[in-house]
Amino acid sequence: MSGAAALHQVQMEPKEYKSEVSVVWCPGCGHHGILNGLYRALAEAGIDPTKLVNISGIGCSSRTPYFIKSYKMHTLHGRAGAVATGVQMARPDLAVVVTGGDGDGFAIGGGHMPHMARKNVNMTYVLFDNGIYGLTKGQYSPTSRPEMKGYTTPYGGPEDPMNPLMYMLTYGATYVAQAFAGKPKLCAELIKGALEHKGFAYVNIFSQCPSFNYLDTVEFYRDLVFEIPADHDPTDMTKAIALARRPNGKAPIGLLYTENKPTLDERVAEFVTRVGGGPDYDINKIINLSRP
Ligand code: SF4
Ligand code: MG
Repeated sequence: MSGAAALHQVQMEPKEYKSEVSVVWCPGCGHHGILNGLYRALAEAGIDPTKLVNISGIGCSSRTPYFIKSYKMHTLHGRAGAVATGVQMARPDLAVVVTGGDGDGFAIGGGHMPHMARKNVNMTYVLFDNGIYGLTKGQYSPTSRPEMKGYTTPYGGPEDPMNPLMYMLTYGATYVAQAFAGKPKLCAELIKGALEHKGFAYVNIFSQCPSFNYLDTVEFYRDLVFEIPADHDPTDMTKAIALARRPNGKAPIGLLYTENKPTLDERVAEFVTRVGGGPDYDINKIINLSRP
């Protein structure tokens, strides 16, 4: 995981991870279920709050760090992943968790997502996927369905939504899972797995926005999802992709894929040792290597 020093360090109840800040989301918002899943996952993984950094961008879900006992950074729109990468590289002993939305992650922040995955940055990314920009009151997002009539698409949209799972699998994320806010126990289980995973762990969670997304209701999601069969082998990329492509139009929930490979911080440490002569490396030695 990101920051083994933060894992299984404390015994706390889920409610003890609640901060002093009141949760301000609308009644009925799916994000409440995800937050409950997060509290449970942190408790079950025994994460020490003094070694936890929760980073976000902008959006309703990006308010999450305020509600969790942790160090936190509320960064620019779409930049949470880039900031989190820097934090993780500087302090690999900490647990780094990004919480954010579909617009923040895949539109404004879309340039960062493939690189966190391909570099295998050792962090957990929980994406609250409600198919809309909620904070700015209902614009079409990268995961909106074409039928969505929002402020920016009063007649619906001409585009198909992106598939976050396909995206993460093909760019090399080493833990890819999906859940639904209406199943907080499954959210907790998958986030716990992400926290314990060493490498870039991505959890996509469907979350209803009853204030602005009138299409993707709780009932819609309940009908959309199916639990990944127990005999699925999560080390089989071909089978993971087949699930991510939504067989029969249904979206899988559960763990699709996991793989062990060196993380970016491990590879940089190895590089510095090999090329620069160890932790007290000489930067001039590295620079001189590139000179003819
Ligand atoms: Fe949740 Fe939507 Fe309200 Fe934002 S606007 S808090 S996403 S219901
Ligand atoms: Mg959204």
